[in-house]
Amino acid sequence: MNNNPDICHVCGMEADPAVASVEYHRIFFYFCSDQCRETFLDNPDLYASKPAAERKEILKKRTLHLAELPGKEVTELLTSYLMDLMGVKGVTIEGERLHISYNLLQVTEAQIEEALAEAGLQLDDSWRERLRRAWVHDTEEIELKNLAARPSSCCNKPPPGSLK
Ligand SMILES: [Zn+2]
Repeated sequence: MNNNPDICHVCGMEADPAVASVEYHRIFFYFCSDQCRETFLDNPDLYASKPAAERKEILKKRTLHLAELPGKEVTELLTSYLMDLMGVKGVTIEGERLHISYNLLQVTEAQIEEALAEAGLQLDDSWRERLRRAWVHDTEEIELKNLAARPSSCCNKPPPGSLK
């Protein structure tokens, strides 16, 4: 059994044939972008069990602090740049604060920060913000690992040991 090669297994958008597919437990998975492919590879058990359309969103709202006040042009560019990331739902920039909402099943704050760094944007480097970011990275990673470990709700099999 293989998945639909035309649909990205992580976000449900059109898959890009140029993005390498992944074979996992002898099933092939297809993706729209390297971002979705990496998301899958970080937690394959979480994504392999069902296609994107059957997964609920896990909406996160965060505020990131930028190192310096962005000009009007940078604000506009940055907003559209972030909105192009898979899973980003909304971006508002107020002064040095960047409010962002996203679906954790498609993008993590760590990935968003990476994208910002690639765009040459610096985040506030105070210990307080560094600590907050480290905490968010940890909790998001744990949340995804826990979801992957949870037995699938579609399974009618009783838990092992209950049939005696
Ligand atoms: Zn995708």
